[in-house]
Amino acid sequence: MRFHTHEALILEVRDLQDTDRIVAFLTRERGHKRGVARGARRRHSRFAGQLQPLAKVRVHWGEKEGRELVRISGADLLRPPHGLGGDLEGLLLGSVLADHMLRFAQEDEPSELYFRLLDSTLEALAAGVDRDLAARFFEAWVLRLAGIFPAPRECPTCGGPFPPEGAVLPPAGDALVCPRCAGAPAGAAGGEFGLGLAVPVPVLAFLVAIGRLGLAELAAQGGAEPAVLRRAEELAARVRRGFLGHELKSYEVMQRTLGELAGAG
Ligand SMILES: [Zn+2]
Repeated sequence: MRFHTHEALILEVRDLQDTDRIVAFLTRERGHKRGVARGARRRHSRFAGQLQPLAKVRVHWGEKEGRELVRISGADLLRPPHGLGGDLEGLLLGSVLADHMLRFAQEDEPSELYFRLLDSTLEALAAGVDRDLAARFFEAWVLRLAGIFPAPRECPTCGGPFPPEGAVLPPAGDALVCPRCAGAPAGAAGGEFGLGLAVPVPVLAFLVAIGRLGLAELAAQGGAEPAVLRRAEELAARVRRGFLGHELKSYEVMQRTLGELAGAG
């Protein structure tokens, strides 16, 4: 058995049998790991309170060669999951953030940048940054770190800068192209071209700003209009689905639940 202690962000906590829990966590040094916390469901467990999704902790664990599940022997709480646990929307967003890390960060590989992204996003949310802005920033950066974020400055097909009509993400495409290269009729602008997702100039400018500014700076500059955020979200979702071959389960659950709430209200 080899023993490790590292800072970690808790991604997922599930009950296992009567008294134990399975915990997924993200570390800088070892990517994401899964471990068993024995006795964590008991009332007076030494884990009580520490193992909450999106808490920052120092985790102590032991692992045996060839075993996928490690054994968690202790956890010290460094930062509780402020700002996300108190309401349904926050819980749903928290599970989407965690799900991105489970899909995109590697297991057992150094994941410094993914760790920093999630850590700083949680920090900003705790400080009261707008959730919608934080979520758009986070999902765009996950795609950047994965190397699949579409470049928002110029058309890779013709090499020209994007015109005032903006850019287009073709159906099943993974790069933004100019409307001409997408085959749009002359003068078409605004919504759907019928040939993909239209990405107007304010959305392109927002994507450029995400790459240049931290989340707190972006928020301090006023964030973005709701329409810009919605189009950026749709763009990220299409690129993510194209890459994964499916949508994140947690994202579908969030969309469906919030949609039903909006319909009921
Ligand atoms: Zn072009």
